[in-house]
Amino acid sequence: MQGFNKYYPPDYDGEKHGSLNAYRGKHALGDRARKLDQGILIVRFELPFNIWCGTCNSHIGMGVRYNAEKKKIGNYYSTPIYSFRCKCHLCDGWFEIQTDPKNTRYVVTSGARQKDEEWDPEENGGFAIHDTDAAATPVDPLAALEKSTAAQAHLTQVQVPRLEALQTLSDHYAADPYTRSQLVRKHFRVEKKAEQTRAADDARVRDKYALPTELALERESEESKKEAAERWRVEREALVERASPSVDVKRRRIGEGLARRSKAEGTSAGGAVSLLRAKILDNTAKRTSPLAGSSSSRLKASSSSLKASLLRR
Ligand SMILES: [Zn+2]
Repeated sequence: MQGFNKYYPPDYDGEKHGSLNAYRGKHALGDRARKLDQGILIVRFELPFNIWCGTCNSHIGMGVRYNAEKKKIGNYYSTPIYSFRCKCHLCDGWFEIQTDPKNTRYVVTSGARQKDEEWDPEENGGFAIHDTDAAATPVDPLAALEKSTAAQAHLTQVQVPRLEALQTLSDHYAADPYTRSQLVRKHFRVEKKAEQTRAADDARVRDKYALPTELALERESEESKKEAAERWRVEREALVERASPSVDVKRRRIGEGLARRSKAEGTSAGGAVSLLRAKILDNTAKRTSPLAGSSSSRLKASSSSLKASLLRR
């Protein structure tokens, strides 16, 4: 009998027996290991589905437990395949169930029929989780050939010409680095010289008109030159118009008219007041003129000579 406790009998010798199981001549797994020499271990096995016994044809429900003979019968890759041989509890017949690592399930191999209650997701509008047959589908040789032909065509018609073009371009630029560098430096030198000249001109202009050094001056171009000339012409015409004697005469006439009217109205102060009024009006007219009053008066003083000088400019 198997030792169930830690009682060591008086004739037990540790060095001689090694263990209590050895002392009693029993395996550690007890009676379950009685067929171990055939590679069979007896385990408690629970039916994973409903079956019908092949011998007595009675229905055995899922979850019924048997003392099954567990045996390794093969491998699926590195996963062992086990078979469980059970004796029907209603008759003397035996049935065998195996593991199926490929499909992660159990299959009845002999002595019974499995009741088919598998849920098929594809049949019920779902998707199969384990698509184990995908790799097993044979490759269409024509499709494979077509694919490889297309790849070959792409290589010869697109990739190789592009690489060749890039290589040619690279060769073109890398052929004579000295000449390339010389050309570039020559170009840069010309640009640098022009830039320096321009900077010197700008500095001179700033210096002449006492402009702040940080003031950016406009670059001179044909357009800007034309615009400046046009502006100068307009301004000069306006100046000449203002300085012309016709305006002066008109203004004097207005003054005289006013004086005459005041006289006709019979004011007591008479000539003195009218003279004053004329003078004030003349001054007001001067102040409202767009150009500075001082220059206009100077222009008035010697309008003909200034006009001549302006035209000379
Ligand atoms: Zn049976």
